[in-house]
Amino acid sequence: MDNNFNPGRLVRDSLKNLVPYQPALYPDVIKLDANEYPFDFPPEIMSEILSELQPQSFTRYPDPMATGLVQEIARCCQVAEDQVLAGSGSDELILNLMLTFGSGNKVVVATPTFSMYGIHARVAGAQVVEVARDAQFELSVDEIVSAGQEAGLVVLCSPNNPTGNSATNAQLEQILDGCSCPVVVDQAYVEFGGADFLPWLDRYPHLVILRTFSKAYGLAGLRVGYLVAWPGVLHYLYKVKQPFNLNVFSQVAARVVLRHRDIFMKQVQQVRAGRDWLREQLGQIPGFKVYASDANYLLFNTGPHRALQVFQSLLQKKVLVRNFGDPLLQNCLRVTVGKKQENEKFLQSLREVIADLEENIGGRTNNG
Ligand SMILES: *Cc1c(COP(=O)(O)O)cnc(C)c1O
Repeated sequence: MDNNFNPGRLVRDSLKNLVPYQPALYPDVIKLDANEYPFDFPPEIMSEILSELQPQSFTRYPDPMATGLVQEIARCCQVAEDQVLAGSGSDELILNLMLTFGSGNKVVVATPTFSMYGIHARVAGAQVVEVARDAQFELSVDEIVSAGQEAGLVVLCSPNNPTGNSATNAQLEQILDGCSCPVVVDQAYVEFGGADFLPWLDRYPHLVILRTFSKAYGLAGLRVGYLVAWPGVLHYLYKVKQPFNLNVFSQVAARVVLRHRDIFMKQVQQVRAGRDWLREQLGQIPGFKVYASDANYLLFNTGPHRALQVFQSLLQKKVLVRNFGDPLLQNCLRVTVGKKQENEKFLQSLREVIADLEENIGGRTNNG
């Protein structure tokens, strides 16, 4: 055996320095950390999915173009079939965009935002140019346009994860008018609010819209996302796409889910109502600042209390929210809107946690 074998010797520095995205799994918690669909998946839709599977579904390779699903998506989005690319979650499509337009180029991202843009960009060997949002988390449009001049790709997220706000028409217009490279707008949460920029594809051939079945449609576990863009953009994406990227089961499930869109849109209404209620309640906690959200989560600043401490104390009470190690999100936590009882349990636990923390502060003060 060769004890001198060092696999890292040949790995580039940018990859060595990459911190993998490995969210910890916590059993038996109220899971409000990942912006998932909070309800039970409708059993009648699950039966319909299972009834569409055939013995060959397991033995044969899937349709590489996911034709049936793509047709259904194109119909729902009112675009042509050759404008739609389905992927194994939008995560895969983000990687494919980075491999196609980012490798060897600069990629502009507007931080704080979804961490996978930066991770996949680095995996693809792109140079990440981070343009910070302003204090209200609005896009720094002029800086993005300026950075976009030299970039292979600009990536925006609207509504933005984790801040919850959407890009305005004026902001996106200025960025699209000012940049000639592809501009991705990740609309993973658009079902919950904010402008839908799909109709803008008619005007802007370099616009790329990303959407997913993971949030509003309850299929996070099956990994289905899609991209809508001009055929000329898809032409290059096909070169890097894995031939059988979307498995048979997921193709069937997503197709059936689209047939029952109305059921999921009703649930979306419930989540939006829960979000507005939760925002109001959170806003009443002294010192807390809650940001407006078009999505199915809320970002809030824990004011006088350390966010990490609040996060850990909530976890002890079996409530999991999202904590960030990002200096741009100092003292902020993100909570996903859950079922009514989950939202209530979260708030109740949070009030207990704060009462405990305040007692500790008071106790310390009293003791000198
Ligand atoms: C959750 C999320 C996605 C969805 O990723 P999938 O791979 O489709 O599950 C994409 N973009 C953002 C910003 C997200 O928060």
